[in-house]
Amino acid sequence: MAPAILWYRRDLRVHDLPALAAAIGDGGDDGVIPVFCFDDRLLGGRFASARRTWFLLQTLQALDTRWHELGGRLWFRRGDPAEQLAEVVRETGATVVHASEEFSGFGRARDARVGAALADAGAQLDLHPGVAIASRLGEIRTKTGKPHTVFTPFSKAWADQPRRELIKAPSALHTPRGQRGELPTLKSLGFDATDAQVDGPPAAGEIAAVDAAKRWASAPLADYESRRSDLAAVTSRLSAHLHLGALSPLLLEHLVREHTGRSATTYRTELAWRDFYLQVVLHHPHVARLEFQARYRELAWEDDPEGLEAWQQGRTGYPVVDAAMRELAATGYMHNRARMIVASFLTKDLHLDWRHGEHWFMRHLLDGDLASNNGGWQWTASTGTDPAPYFRRMFNPTLQQKKFDPSGRYVRRWCPELAGVPDKHLAEPWKMTPDEQDDAGCRIGYDYPEPIVDHAVERARAAERYQAAAAAV
Ligand SMILES: Cc1cc2nc3c(=O)[nH]c(=O)nc-3n(C[C@H](O)[C@H](O)[C@H](O)COP(=O)(O)OP(=O)(O)OC[C@H]3O[C@@H](n4cnc5c(N)ncnc54)[C@H](O)[C@@H]3O)c2cc1C
Repeated sequence: MAPAILWYRRDLRVHDLPALAAAIGDGGDDGVIPVFCFDDRLLGGRFASARRTWFLLQTLQALDTRWHELGGRLWFRRGDPAEQLAEVVRETGATVVHASEEFSGFGRARDARVGAALADAGAQLDLHPGVAIASRLGEIRTKTGKPHTVFTPFSKAWADQPRRELIKAPSALHTPRGQRGELPTLKSLGFDATDAQVDGPPAAGEIAAVDAAKRWASAPLADYESRRSDLAAVTSRLSAHLHLGALSPLLLEHLVREHTGRSATTYRTELAWRDFYLQVVLHHPHVARLEFQARYRELAWEDDPEGLEAWQQGRTGYPVVDAAMRELAATGYMHNRARMIVASFLTKDLHLDWRHGEHWFMRHLLDGDLASNNGGWQWTASTGTDPAPYFRRMFNPTLQQKKFDPSGRYVRRWCPELAGVPDKHLAEPWKMTPDEQDDAGCRIGYDYPEPIVDHAVERARAAERYQAAAAAV
């Protein structure tokens, strides 16, 4: 026999990993060589992120420790995975490489290329479920056999699809000796440590991720239904772990299904959104660059570098937008409701192309994920799947703040210059009289910016733009 290779990508765990179970079966006494390959095309590509690369390195470090404790070691390579994996195959005599199935156009094209290179080297690439909850995600179709583009019917079919069995983490692992390489540093991958810094990142690695999921399901989950839209409330915060696969999404679904009640149901539906967007990129890979809805491909986006910068820096004069953008800058995270509010503001108040926002999020989010991020941006810009009339997704930042941050806790935390502004003015601080501004210790235009646009005016302009684009086709 020969060892089997496990090619890790974004499934960085040993629990509930079908590709690992298959590799253990194939490798037998010769063991499993787990390989992670740093692909510069991905790390330095259009969505390069110092923060996410830093979190990836932390997660890989934890994964190597986990393998070490179980008796194996992680191998590291850098370069084109087709060349690197073929080389490992030649070095070790392995005849099979197991990996978890990817959904994006980039990932699938890469896997096809790697599969061909491995075949030349005398090995085959076997793909397994593990990234999505549904193990046959591509098979979830409408009654007429088409891929779903509307979320609700998808989520019903998704919830009904039988699940595979959960797989326990192995109690021991064996990796043969060889050229294992070293975990690179952030610097050697071309990133500056200062660009990677975030406040309060989650503890990395599967042990921390599984613990966090269990803690979440044991108590806070119960309040999810009533609190999930409250900007100051804490949701599960498991997205960065799910993105890298340090937490099996199926295990998370299991933990949630042990509970009854509306919170558990709602949470499970949120998990379905993740699978929904994975199948969107699977069936419609062009969304990675283009609007899903052809009628909006000619939308007249504006060119406003100053507006874009104000949005990026959290200086739009709309407190909830600014708080959210500053939360992102400081922590690499943003609440889901806040993501929708700032995305609507960028696309429908500033009339800027959603791709600017997609790009900024991918650079700064620890959980930045091609499918979910693109899906969220296109959903809010009304250009994507799950279509609704554009005016239904035009968020009024003032009303959103009043409804979802009524105490002002979220806004005051991230915009401390507004700390002294009374509740009744917090969503529209520009309406304070000069005396009120003095009392609040916050002069508009000096301590805190004036609003850069008038929402009511921009709302009407956005309506014109969307109508014009739809009428042109
Ligand atoms: C414009 C925009 C961009 C987004 N970009 C990303 C992204 O890059 N990466 C990312 O993981 N999520 C993204 N989301 C979805 C969502 O905001 C985050 O998943 C969520 O805020 C993460 O926090 P949490 O883990 O506490 O979520 P919870 O509310 O606890 O939800 C649990 C899990 O369900 C999944 N989920 C929940 N809502 C969504 C959703 N709308 N779409 C897809 N999955 C969802 C996530 O995996 C999440 O971790 C985006 C949403 C919008 C509107």
